[in-house]
Amino acid sequence: MQLPVELLAALSHVKGFDRSAFETVHQSGEQVTSIRLNPFKPSESLKDLYKSPLPWCSYAWYLKERPFFTFDPVFHGGAYYVQEASSMFLWYLLQQLTGTATAGKNVLDLCAAPGGKSTLLSTYFADGLVVSNEVIKSRSAILVENLTKWGQPNVVVTNNDPDHFSKLEGFFDVIVVDAPCSGSGLFRKDPAAIEEWSEQNVQHCSQRQERILASILPALKEDGLLIYSTCSYSVEEDERIADWLVLEKDMESLPVTVPAEWNIVQTEAEQTGATGFRFYPNRVKGEGFFVAAFRKKTATTAPRYKELQLVSPTRSEAALLQAFYPIPEGYATFKQQEAIRLFPASYMNALRQLASALYIKKAGIEIGSIKGKDLIPSHELAVSILDKSGLRVVTVDKDQALQYLRRKELRLEAPVGWCLLQYGGVCLGWVKVLPNRINNYYPAEWRILKD
Ligand code: SAM
Repeated sequence: MQLPVELLAALSHVKGFDRSAFETVHQSGEQVTSIRLNPFKPSESLKDLYKSPLPWCSYAWYLKERPFFTFDPVFHGGAYYVQEASSMFLWYLLQQLTGTATAGKNVLDLCAAPGGKSTLLSTYFADGLVVSNEVIKSRSAILVENLTKWGQPNVVVTNNDPDHFSKLEGFFDVIVVDAPCSGSGLFRKDPAAIEEWSEQNVQHCSQRQERILASILPALKEDGLLIYSTCSYSVEEDERIADWLVLEKDMESLPVTVPAEWNIVQTEAEQTGATGFRFYPNRVKGEGFFVAAFRKKTATTAPRYKELQLVSPTRSEAALLQAFYPIPEGYATFKQQEAIRLFPASYMNALRQLASALYIKKAGIEIGSIKGKDLIPSHELAVSILDKSGLRVVTVDKDQALQYLRRKELRLEAPVGWCLLQYGGVCLGWVKVLPNRINNYYPAEWRILKD
């Protein structure tokens, strides 16, 4: 693997950079695999592969080897997310900077696809509101899929340009900007990315990062927390952006104490001394990553947000719904075409405000659709973390589970009607059992294609 000489030269004076160890670790071919468990969907499917817990993130494990995740049914049920270890440091920053004060917080993940940070945020802020945004339409589909499988009802997925958030001045308590970058931090995992790296692209990314941050900062509350990260080693995309945030945007850098034995390198930006954290793969068990945290000092006016009215189910629809799935306490419902969705009642006003400014791909959990006099239960309900104790559940073995996830024909002993299939304690989706056959309702677009 030939690393770009311009990058190696540019890093030679950067704190923590050790060229020989850095080159060696890139030649080694070592692959680090880590997962983060979904604490709301306990599962032991990979337990034999656990090597050690991640020091900086709860529920996260290094694995001894990389299994074929596609053939683990609970992976499709959202029991864990395969996530790069360094990036899970976000959890530690949140613990240090927000602690357990998570209820009532409005959180934005601005650059969210495919959803690693958003799934983490929706676990951490399980009693907050998480808006997960992706500007590129084609990438927002995988974001919806991953967050649907993760199953938290407090998530809104949007597909907007950072500029569109200007209508939501001072709305968010926490904004995470995991910015698009030149990607040098992922060279070990994805050597093909080396071909695309250039000094020009670093400059281009740096300018785009400033533009994204400038667009989104008005949406952060006074005293709100900004977490900025990249998977680039380039100072132009890391410490220089931190300097720019302090000098041009009046943000206050937030220092955080990190245990020395984690080998994360703390840096100070050249002009302002703003704190940042660098992850080098020769020092930590993870890929290249940079992250820094800031507090917004400037006051925001308290605008009166517009609210879009949401449509409520009619009485007969509500009765149909109630008969199939009684709405748990603390949740409200609204309609979107024929679908009935459930959302935390305490965030309904916030949802109306978001709906007036943004293009919402998904909000909360779809319970089902009304078709004539019937309610067709939704896959979102099946894989949500909501209570399913009143629903009919059938436990299947691994072969049956994979057959189901391939959307193939199933043979099962099950009572006639709608049944939830469960494997390893994790719900996978619906089947409709008829007297002479079983209809497989697994979403066609998510089915396993490999045999
Ligand atoms: N946070 C994600 C995760 O943890 O899975 C990874 C995000 S990736 C580093 C950066 C994302 O920013 C990509 O999904 C990309 O499509 C998006 N992006 C690209 N250009 C953007 C722009 N101008 N504004 C906002 N986001 C952009």
